[in-house]
Amino acid sequence: MPEKISPGMQQYLDIKKDYPDAFLLFRMGDFYELFYEDAVNAAQILELTLTSRNKNSENPVPMAGVPHHAVQEYIDKLVDMGFKVAIADQMEDPKKAVGIVKRAVTQVVTPGTMVDASNGNDNNFLVAIDKNAGHFVLAYLDLSTGEFKVTELPDFPTLVGEIASLRAREVVAGYELNEAHRTVLAKQMNILISEQLEIDEKFLTELSKLTKAENQISSKLLTYVNRTQMRDLSHLQEVEHYEIKDFLQMDFATKSALELTANKREGKKHGTLYGLLDQTKTAMGTRMLKAWIDKPLLKRAQIEHRMDIVQIFLDNFFERADLIESLKGVYDMERLASRVSFGKALPVDLIQLKNSLENVPVIKNVLESLNEKSLTELSKNLDPIPELSELINRAIDTAAMRVITDGGIIKAGYNAQLDKYREALENGTSWIAELESKEKQKTGISTLRIDYNRKDGYYFHITQSQLSSVPEHFYRKATLKNSERYGSKELAEIEEVMLEAREKSSVLEYDLFLEVRSEVEKYISRLQDLSKTIATIDSLQAFATIAEKEAYIRPTFNDNQEVNIVAGRHAVVEAIMGAQEYVPNDIILPENTAIQLITGPNMSGKSTYMRQFALIVIMAQIGSFVPAERAELPIFDAIFTRIGASDNLISGESTFMVEMSEANRAIQHATAHSLILFDELGRGTATYDGMALAQAIIEYVHDKIGAKTLFATHYHELTELDKTLPLLTNVHVATLEENGNVTFLHKIAAGPADKSYGIHVAKIAGLPETLLERADLILQKLENQPVPAVELENNDKQLSLFDFEENHSELIAKLKSVNVDNITSREALNILWDLKEML
Ligand code: ADP
Ligand code: MG
Repeated sequence: MPEKISPGMQQYLDIKKDYPDAFLLFRMGDFYELFYEDAVNAAQILELTLTSRNKNSENPVPMAGVPHHAVQEYIDKLVDMGFKVAIADQMEDPKKAVGIVKRAVTQVVTPGTMVDASNGNDNNFLVAIDKNAGHFVLAYLDLSTGEFKVTELPDFPTLVGEIASLRAREVVAGYELNEAHRTVLAKQMNILISEQLEIDEKFLTELSKLTKAENQISSKLLTYVNRTQMRDLSHLQEVEHYEIKDFLQMDFATKSALELTANKREGKKHGTLYGLLDQTKTAMGTRMLKAWIDKPLLKRAQIEHRMDIVQIFLDNFFERADLIESLKGVYDMERLASRVSFGKALPVDLIQLKNSLENVPVIKNVLESLNEKSLTELSKNLDPIPELSELINRAIDTAAMRVITDGGIIKAGYNAQLDKYREALENGTSWIAELESKEKQKTGISTLRIDYNRKDGYYFHITQSQLSSVPEHFYRKATLKNSERYGSKELAEIEEVMLEAREKSSVLEYDLFLEVRSEVEKYISRLQDLSKTIATIDSLQAFATIAEKEAYIRPTFNDNQEVNIVAGRHAVVEAIMGAQEYVPNDIILPENTAIQLITGPNMSGKSTYMRQFALIVIMAQIGSFVPAERAELPIFDAIFTRIGASDNLISGESTFMVEMSEANRAIQHATAHSLILFDELGRGTATYDGMALAQAIIEYVHDKIGAKTLFATHYHELTELDKTLPLLTNVHVATLEENGNVTFLHKIAAGPADKSYGIHVAKIAGLPETLLERADLILQKLENQPVPAVELENNDKQLSLFDFEENHSELIAKLKSVNVDNITSREALNILWDLKEML
């Protein structure tokens, strides 16, 4: 016989049916309860006590609960872990309910829609994707700031790259994902997937500036947001189209290899370019800076415009200091605006908004005082919205706090009725004081006093020992252990006035507050515009601050594919090196040099040199100054990298597979205007195999692409390629040997590295002389053999040792005359120079 289900449980089951993929928090009295599976799982995750309903029945229902006042904390925790939480609230006053209290889900909180998120100032992007005739469309929005954008993307890898760059934690799928795509998103990237195949007509966007597919996915995203948030969100901005092609392209592997916004160790900001450059003072500035780093510019005019302003800020120290002071007083207005729209803004939020707005005229003044065209333009967009700060100032008490039901929010003078209630309350208070002293005198009870509590209202408090003096006109209200509570006709009259005033005034205050809040809502789009301008000013200010601190210079741009970086540094390595000196390096790639082949021992600085280049390029194209003495650059359209051994372990791809697919991306997509960094490509496979591929890739880039390419390699044989590839040059990282110690100079020098370097190091390490001689012999033998890969093309150009001896007898003679055991390293270097000279 099936067990009888109580009406309450039936209501729960009915609601739960609609939210199978979410934890359902079911409000019952002062608790939110979870049942069945939800209870079992949540008890474990949230460390709640698991109990059961109908304990004595045959099938007790597992149950767990959290107190309603602490519910947010539990929701945050669940959502943080990637779960959805549906909140079912009581829709009527339980006291007035006939039968079972009406309940309904009022919000579904999901990782992508969490607004009071614990992610600090960071954006929380909810992404929606759709398929359209082989292409993909992607829309994203941040519910906490209202930002809303859409784009079309050519293929799935690009789509995944964009999702990863946005650091989305939830993806709304507008089409039925196939298994492979689902695995990539859900398993490898740990993203929660929500489906939204239908469009609610209410949220149909039909913007003519967007394609049909873009409108469609935007509509699906809005439908999803409405379905989960269950409220109209006035702060969502009109969806805006963007093109990834309008920005310097970098895939996610490149961004993470270069540690632009997240470090490799823990995915945090520390030790990244973003961490270094973030000298912003506002949350809005921080977010914008991060977005800039993710999307460096391509248009020279736009870049120069940012740099012009950085230069002005740099040149005007005192004005910049004033500006920074004012920026410090600006709160996160974007988020405040969204709280207003969500109906979550509290009195303190409005006060913060007002305080922020009051800084705007000061910022405007500073900008205008500098009397520069670029700043006056920015200043024009700074709208201090005086009527809004005036409204808040007039209405909201600066001492107002987070509670909106207990009064103390609205200022005196804002509303006549409220003032009247308050006067009554104030009068009442003095009447009570008067009555208290009058009765004290009349009765002679020295300890008599008038108190108030919710249950008994106003009463005379009389202790046990004084009960005999209680006058006739007092009547008993309550009896306690050591005292009694009395009322009187006079007290009841005052009480009535006061209770009414108290109750009505807090209700009125609450209503007035909501009124002010909905008035503020009308200013949301102006607040968002203002926020953007402030964020821009703040980010540019940050560039000036860091440029001054770290002695950066303004780069210049050319159109002829020449790179001239004099004494460049790696911004992040330099900043964290502290007392040690960073060794600056030039990066010189004339128009006719596409590829630089970098050789040198391990730990000498090859990778750092390559990254330094990429960072300088990125910094320049976001409008920042750069760490160098001089920097002249072309504008790059994309950066491709194959750096480090960041095995994609989760996906089970081997190092070599990752290497080759990253190399492939570069080869498929790079143009003559791109930058490619290949660090030790080919390492993941057998030597000849890897070397052959490395050479073939270099040749391909050389002949077919012509992108500026830095190629660090341990395949010494590849240095011969400069003989056949005119656009390739060799450089190496210089080392210094002194008294048997090798010092890495971290200095890039022309030409290939010394090939017998390994044997050299072995010698210093003290390996037996005979062993070293043997190694030398083997090396010579190996070198006399035809070199694989290189050999294939270069047969005719390969010099035999015999030719060499004939043509350079003088050189050989000199070499023979040197007594290696008898010279200092200084002399050795000199001899080496001479030999090179002779060559
Ligand atoms: P490689 O790629 O040649 O093995 P890395 O570029 O990884 O070498 O550099 C090894 C270490 O040397 C770095 O961690 C850094 O501390 C130091 N280093 C590299 N380049 C420089 C430099 N220009 N100035 C100072 N220290 C450097
Ligand atoms: Mg390296």
